[in-house]
Amino acid sequence: MNNIFVYCEIEEGKVADVSLELLTKARDLASTLGCRVEALAIGHNLQGIEKQLATYGAEIVHVADGEELAPFRTLPHAAVVCGVFKEEKPQIALFGATCTGRDLAPRVSSALHSGLTADCTSLEIGDHKEAKTGKEYKDLLYQIRPAFGGNIIATIINPDCRPQMATVREGVMKMEPVANPSPAEVKTVDYKKYLGDTDFAVKIVAREMEERKINIKGAPIIVAGGYGMGSKEGFGLLYQLAEVLGAEVGASRAAVDAGFAEHERQIGQTGVTVRPKLYIACGISGQIQHTAGMDGSSMVISINTDPEAPIGKIADYAIVGDVNTVIPKMIKYYKQN
Ligand code: FAD
Repeated sequence: MNNIFVYCEIEEGKVADVSLELLTKARDLASTLGCRVEALAIGHNLQGIEKQLATYGAEIVHVADGEELAPFRTLPHAAVVCGVFKEEKPQIALFGATCTGRDLAPRVSSALHSGLTADCTSLEIGDHKEAKTGKEYKDLLYQIRPAFGGNIIATIINPDCRPQMATVREGVMKMEPVANPSPAEVKTVDYKKYLGDTDFAVKIVAREMEERKINIKGAPIIVAGGYGMGSKEGFGLLYQLAEVLGAEVGASRAAVDAGFAEHERQIGQTGVTVRPKLYIACGISGQIQHTAGMDGSSMVISINTDPEAPIGKIADYAIVGDVNTVIPKMIKYYKQN
């Protein structure tokens, strides 16, 4: 049985969270399929990287370490990934749906003539019977993602091409270390043989790092506001509540479109995906495009004047009331306690 490969993004010696999320998911898929999880790490000064990857379930780590491989440039990385995949023949290959993954994965899938499902929100293993021919396929990767503007959740399969390739949204999969990780087997990639006449025309002359001022992805508590907050000033209440709770402020798209909050705060299908311990949805109706980005939250509290608002269906506690009355009471309570 061929294995599952995860392309691991590495910045300054640290593996990106999305890659650790993918390794965690790959473990699940591999236990269903009875195969192993392999990681592919490309960059420079990667000594010891296998320890981080083994902690999240990589059993074999392929390391391509060279000065010309860092920082990330699409063409050399694509050449190395294609070279490794041609030799190792993974049945499944996973990439983060990040700027890097969205750049790299299509080039790899095109070069290997395999399909690619972008921006998946879930992955499962399942069978398929072709309606026309009756041909049966076992153990395919179900690549699941919203489609048609989020109105349906599509399951996409790729029966005849290998590897079955997907990019997966950041934050949708859990990131769980293995209880007692075994050391990974390290395979050094002789990457120069894959570079051949790779175009190195892109030269990186300078890098500027910009610190993210708003970072809601990792926040344990999120106070999110929707169109029901009424105005940018109305959002002021959310910042006060967030301060007393030690939370970050998120927003629905309707609130962002109305100028109540910055785009970086948007949660949902076209925003970020979050899974905090506590999500307080204030004046948010709970349309599927919003809930797609927060329904992995451990606990959801909604505050809405409409008792029938769809958010009530996924809320653990639904407060039926006006945000302008309920939130000040919450702020007062938490300040005192
Ligand atoms: P509304 O749907 O207008 O709901 C406002 C809610 O506030 C209502 O339930 C109302 O009862 C309540 N309310 C009003 N006044 C008060 C008050 N004083 N106190 C308490 N409650 C009050 N949306 C996202 O959020 N994220 C996305 O990433 C996203 N992507 C999209 C992608 C596509 C392709 C499309 C088509 C849509 C997308 N949307 C997204 C938009 C989504 O469909 C909804 O329009 C949006 O989520 C609605 O935002 P809302 O709940 O804030 O506003």
